Amino acid sequence: MSRLFCVLLSFFVTSASAFASGKPLVVSTNTIAHDLVLQVGGDLFQAECLLPAGSDPHAYEPKPADVRRVAVAKLVVANGLGFENWITKLVKNSGFRGELLILSTGITPLAAAECEDHDHHHEHGEFDPHAWQDVSNVIRYVDNLRDALVRLVPMQAAAINARAAAYTAELQSLHAYAAATLGGLPAERRKLVTSHDALAYFGRAYGLDIVPIAGLSTEQEPNARQVSRLIRRIRAEKVPAVFIESTANPKLARLLAEEAGVKVPPSLYTDSVGPEGSPANTYVGMIRHNVDTIVAALR
Ligand SMILES: [Zn+2]
Repeated sequence: MSRLFCVLLSFFVTSASAFASGKPLVVSTNTIAHDLVLQVGGDLFQAECLLPAGSDPHAYEPKPADVRRVAVAKLVVANGLGFENWITKLVKNSGFRGELLILSTGITPLAAAECEDHDHHHEHGEFDPHAWQDVSNVIRYVDNLRDALVRLVPMQAAAINARAAAYTAELQSLHAYAAATLGGLPAERRKLVTSHDALAYFGRAYGLDIVPIAGLSTEQEPNARQVSRLIRRIRAEKVPAVFIESTANPKLARLLAEEAGVKVPPSLYTDSVGPEGSPANTYVGMIRHNVDTIVAALR
């Protein structure tokens, strides 16, 4: 019997046994990663997310149930770039033996925003983690995820590759839609004032200036001098709206909008997909919602 045949046989037995005990468990650290697993993995995997839609992954504190789930997972999917720093400890404490996939591997990260104050609502490291706000980065995320899912279940490579290719085509048209729609805004109105600094990649990809109100804490009473400087800027630059985000405290943004006399459009989804049952409950849906909301407010 050839050596190759033995290798093939043991490979087949390993793959088959993964299925014998049910579908391989894939656990995600955030709702965006979870949606990508559902899109690319279909029903080949048991996909679970540690966080419900609408919660803030930066500030998440893992629960004992999360340790038990990660312990039996075959693959853990995280964004990386410091978005969910708690996953390292969780993986270690659970005795997890599978692969920890960092979706952002291979993208060109932006440096983290410089904070004026160090009381910003979330700690961040060297890089800005919010890379999924540029759809072209998520095309790379999907490549990384596809390869990890194929490594996990090589016998399903054809099905996984086909799903990944179809979803990538959907992402390419989403990227083109965002670029064309936002590109139609007059240059002087392409300004995003928002409650946390999650949209730097979005601004760079689709040609919008981010007016930084980050650096002001959303937890504490803002510094009066900084607030009045921002209000002056919003008025001077005729910024038509201040945006709030579903996972960030809207207090400061609302205060700014009120003081500057501008509107507050519906929440943007930045660090989580939208609520279950809403059209924004998928990654594609959340980006479409953000693009349409921004264009309607700034047009
Ligand atoms: Zn964030």
